Amino acid sequence: MTTRPILRRLRNRRSSSKSSSGARKRSRRPAHHPGRGLARFWLRFAKSSKNRAHPTAPRKFARLLNRLPHLQGRAVTVRFLPALTAGSQKLYSDKKFGQPVYAATFVRKRRIVLDQELERQPRELARILTHELFHFVWVRLSNRSRHSYETLVRTEWLRRTRGELGWSAESRKRVLSRKAPFANLGKRWREYLCESFCDTAAWLFSGLRRHPEFTLAERYRKKRAAWFQETFRAGKIPI
Ligand SMILES: [Zn+2]
Repeated sequence: MTTRPILRRLRNRRSSSKSSSGARKRSRRPAHHPGRGLARFWLRFAKSSKNRAHPTAPRKFARLLNRLPHLQGRAVTVRFLPALTAGSQKLYSDKKFGQPVYAATFVRKRRIVLDQELERQPRELARILTHELFHFVWVRLSNRSRHSYETLVRTEWLRRTRGELGWSAESRKRVLSRKAPFANLGKRWREYLCESFCDTAAWLFSGLRRHPEFTLAERYRKKRAAWFQETFRAGKIPI
């Protein structure tokens, strides 16, 4: 596993409130960013009790954690930084270079960095944070479960199913569709699988019923939801 972050890119420049209205909003504020470096806290996934946010975390995180299934594993640090961008797999904050991103997840360091802009968008925050947390779940999934998820998604692919449950998966699926059959797609196929897993979790658990990025047909959504129910029947999900 590499130490490179998994980046969540913006859908397109037009939808980038970060680079348009977000930037304007910011510019009316003082040049410094109050809370920079302070907006950092733990999400705890205890063995026996419920998921918990560190007392310094905003209350909305406690609400999100209540909605999530029982996750079990070491704590994950979440940090907000202003104006996130990324270039050559490096993450920057408040720099003039790189492409804007909303989130970056460092799986080995157990760290998630979110753009400060998300603090004012509770729905997107819930969706994106859930997605990022499930990156940790994906790497802890048993080979058997990962394989069965692949079988599910491969069936969709063979049926030429369109749509996804988030832009992270959709953008990777679109690249795949221009390529040869999935059997030899290797890294790109695995990345797509992982992102579709995380997007499905975000669709299921973040509490959002509708979103423009939920484009997968209803019957396939049901199959994915059934897969999650079946796979995590025991209740506790390793993170
Ligand atoms: Zn992702």
